[in-house]
Amino acid sequence: ATPLAELDPEIAAVLDGELARQRDTLEMIASENFVPRAVLEAQGSVLTNKYAEGYPGRRYYGGCEQVDIAENLAIARAKSLFGAEHANVQPHSGAQANAAVLHALINAGDKILGLELAHGGHLTHGMRINFSGKLYDVGAYGVDPQSYRIEMDEVRKKALEHRPDVIIAGWSAYPRHLDFAAFREVADEVGAKLWVDMAHFAGLVAAGLHPSPVPHADVVSSTVHKTIGGPRSGFILSKEEYAKKIDSAVFPGQQGGPLMHVIAAKAVSFKVAATESFKDRQERTLRGASIIAERLSQPDVAAAGASVLTGGTDVHLVLVDLRNSQLDGQQAEDLLHDAGITVNRNAVPFDPRPPRVTSGLRIGTPALATRGFGDAEFTEVADIIATALKDGAATDVDALSARVEKLTAAFPLYPGL
Ligand code: PLP
Repeated sequence: ATPLAELDPEIAAVLDGELARQRDTLEMIASENFVPRAVLEAQGSVLTNKYAEGYPGRRYYGGCEQVDIAENLAIARAKSLFGAEHANVQPHSGAQANAAVLHALINAGDKILGLELAHGGHLTHGMRINFSGKLYDVGAYGVDPQSYRIEMDEVRKKALEHRPDVIIAGWSAYPRHLDFAAFREVADEVGAKLWVDMAHFAGLVAAGLHPSPVPHADVVSSTVHKTIGGPRSGFILSKEEYAKKIDSAVFPGQQGGPLMHVIAAKAVSFKVAATESFKDRQERTLRGASIIAERLSQPDVAAAGASVLTGGTDVHLVLVDLRNSQLDGQQAEDLLHDAGITVNRNAVPFDPRPPRVTSGLRIGTPALATRGFGDAEFTEVADIIATALKDGAATDVDALSARVEKLTAAFPLYPGL
């Protein structure tokens, strides 16, 4: 019964330090969020002790009666939230969910077609040294060099050239909706399966504020920790026809024992995601991103060479193009970090700089919306970012930090924790 602070003061100090960091800064990494206390509780629970290889009612271990209830709840809630025929809630992460999807749908050597990594795609969609790039024959479509949007003519052209067995729609850094019905048409035309990776925008879909891929795709994968705001982990939805294949691709295909404490926390998150307050939070997330895109499109920011890719956003993130700015991605990330705002540098399409430096920023609003931010606060955040991008190396960092501090103080994170 020794408390952590006594048993391992070094790790206890990390936890304290991280809580302070999260409280005292503005978290704007588009793939991050803050989980509710109930999720922390479920995840930091005795369920972590349990082995449960297999599926509810069909386990390879005894004593699974309680964890079966948790997993069945998570499955039922995921299906109901997204209107899916089948759900697998066991993937430990988004990447593992994606490995299982490809494992279920195709064989090594078969062809996949996804969004170019450098244009906002994900590692698991065919990056050269990822499992997806090593096991499968990869083709890629990119964004249009003028509009910076995914144009379906280009997707169709690439599909006709490459003749993929699976077409992947989904992204890690792209600010617009995808046309899932059009992807379905292209997939049907070339005889490919359609897999949508909604890791980033799943929370928006759950709230009914983003088109749903579920009616169009054969399989949909996701993470739980981005816009949904649950525990770090993944899940897979599919048509009933793929249910068996997906389940056996996850276990025993990819994983051993499921993380039952995380699955319980996923169940909690899916319950939360069906509420009105979750919808309100997703609405604030979207409005926040629009406010930032609008502010960063003003002439004062443009005069400093920074612009907003595609001129705006439909989702929870804004991509800033710094190719004509005095700041590169690394410098802009560092400058905002010094002011107390955490974002990540991000390659823009056709980026002349290397991936470790980049010429862009990806700015997301989900975590601040969870913290309670509304239009007024996002307007202030947008102006702080605009000021830094405008003033560059001459930025009065102390003045911006003071403005950040006012915001963090007004919206305490995890009060009482
Ligand atoms: N898919 C997409 C589109 C992502 O953006 C990410 C995370 O960045 C993943 C999958 C992978 O998720 P994880 O980091 O949980 O493996």
